Amino acid sequence: MKHKILFVIADGLGDRRVRKLSDKTPLQAATKDNIRELYRSSMIGLMDPISPGIVPGSDTSHLSIFGVDPKIYYRGRGAFEAIGAGAELKHGDVAFRGNFSTVNQDFVIVDRRAGRNIKEAELLVKELNEKIEPIDGINVKFFHGTEHRVAVILSGQGISDKVSDTDPEEAGQRVLASKPLDGSKEAEKTSKIVNELTKRVYDILSTSKYNIEREARGELPANAILLRGAATYQELPKFESITGLKTIAVAATALIKGVAKSLGMDVYTPPGATGGVDSDLLAKADAAVKFIKQDYDMVFLHVKGTDAASHDGNPENKVLVIEKIDKMIGRILDSIGSEMIIGITGDHCTPVELKEHSGDPVPFLLHVPESIITDEISDFNEITARKGSVRIRGLDVANILLNYSNRAKKYGA
Ligand SMILES: [Zn+2]
Repeated sequence: MKHKILFVIADGLGDRRVRKLSDKTPLQAATKDNIRELYRSSMIGLMDPISPGIVPGSDTSHLSIFGVDPKIYYRGRGAFEAIGAGAELKHGDVAFRGNFSTVNQDFVIVDRRAGRNIKEAELLVKELNEKIEPIDGINVKFFHGTEHRVAVILSGQGISDKVSDTDPEEAGQRVLASKPLDGSKEAEKTSKIVNELTKRVYDILSTSKYNIEREARGELPANAILLRGAATYQELPKFESITGLKTIAVAATALIKGVAKSLGMDVYTPPGATGGVDSDLLAKADAAVKFIKQDYDMVFLHVKGTDAASHDGNPENKVLVIEKIDKMIGRILDSIGSEMIIGITGDHCTPVELKEHSGDPVPFLLHVPESIITDEISDFNEITARKGSVRIRGLDVANILLNYSNRAKKYGA
């Protein structure tokens, strides 16, 4: 019998001993009454998302875990974030991440985020898309992400992502002129387009009635877009063609949604799922239950809060998010039982005392129904994982899921 698959990635889950937690890791310190139910029929161990010692980004590690080698396919995060924010990209398009910001008439930055929560952002993006003309034959499109974030897409012939940012990443500095980063005429052309774009965006935004209204209310005008992280969109192999698994991602973070969409997965963000520590994980659980009951073979459930707490250096919040994940899994088990493959892991470690990703291996749990296998786990954490049977790389995950869900095809005679 082919099993359905629930695959949970808690971003930045893995950690090290934390002084504030009496030398326990957050996963060790957290109460996990629901995940505990899975131990008698699970194996655990460690996964190197890319390979041992490599410090993964969230994008490269998700690619690897979903069977696509980032060393071959990765072209930067810009395109993923743009897709995650709703952009439609074609092979060869160049995507930038951008910020609505406030500049004076000399293009000196007053506020890099124009006050951050710009309630007219959607309207400003619409106005830009209506008014912007092609530059040197290249079409420009804008997409709103969250808050002050926008994606800017260039499409047409003869462009390149080998251009520098316009965002100096500091208020009080002048907006930078984009420069070609290699000797190609494509980079030369693209940097000129970007610099012309900076001016045209300012012309459109500084005369927009929404900004005039903002200034009248004493708010900062969102009159410029700072660009960074140029990336060419490269078509990726699709997860379903690699594995045969029809998959939906339940996720809120633009980067992860973009990776999942690029891999051909359906993507759903439940209301209340924020990508933060406060995210409504029970809403994610309900969505996962709904999709598992439909014709999806696999539900990939992403939780960002563990990584957010780690980057904040807040071990208590990390424990809290792990306990919320436990309740989320509990809700799923209560609704549909445990007769499915359940994977629980992280995309990398983000030790709270480091506040940054690290190259440590990540704890990995795989529940296989019917008790056909067990590591006789006492707890799921970084310490016990070192005694478990699993020791894999991210690129092995898909094969393992196929094997235990009874879908693997024989290799050879
Ligand atoms: Zn991550």
